[in-house]
Amino acid sequence: MPAVSAGPEIERLIQLLARLPNLGPRSARRAALFLIKKREAVMAPLAAALQTAMDKVEICRLCGNIDTQNPCAVCSDTRRETSAIVVVADVADLWALERAHAINARYHVLGGTLSPLDGIGPDDLAIDALVKRAHDPAVTEIILALNATVDGQSTAHYITDLLHDAAVKVTRLAHGVPVGGELDYLDEGTLAAAMRSRTPF
Ligand code: ZN
Repeated sequence: MPAVSAGPEIERLIQLLARLPNLGPRSARRAALFLIKKREAVMAPLAAALQTAMDKVEICRLCGNIDTQNPCAVCSDTRRETSAIVVVADVADLWALERAHAINARYHVLGGTLSPLDGIGPDDLAIDALVKRAHDPAVTEIILALNATVDGQSTAHYITDLLHDAAVKVTRLAHGVPVGGELDYLDEGTLAAAMRSRTPF
């Protein structure tokens, strides 16, 4: 048994904080101490925000985004292009594309990527719903914005095969040299992919 240095309620707080991504037991202990010291200024508003999020957060029934309205703000936005659907693995990817103002379209969150090693198959992802949306006559392009990993790319191939009879163009994000990237520092895989995806200048 490890020595308990704080009361059980505080140990519980530390344990729960330690479950957050990128927060190990040491950082969790530090975060808990910070919260306790800043009880009024930080902990109380945080507790209230957590409770509000608990009560109000919903998963969008159209795209799988997380929001406090359903359909989500993106799906409800009438200024969005309806012809393209951007397919992402996770809500974090959707939010990243939105932060980048990358495209003014709608999204479809798969909820992960196919991963035989982790036992994640097509039925575990929102693939059926995507195929249904791709058959909407208003939709002309499906943009696969999936990770450039083995799982991401095999998921992209799987979806492309399923969409062969839908009247949509299937595209994917370019792979290559990052903005500000120096060729000398790129790994061979990135460099080779960039050469394959070269575009007219
Ligand atoms: Zn939505």
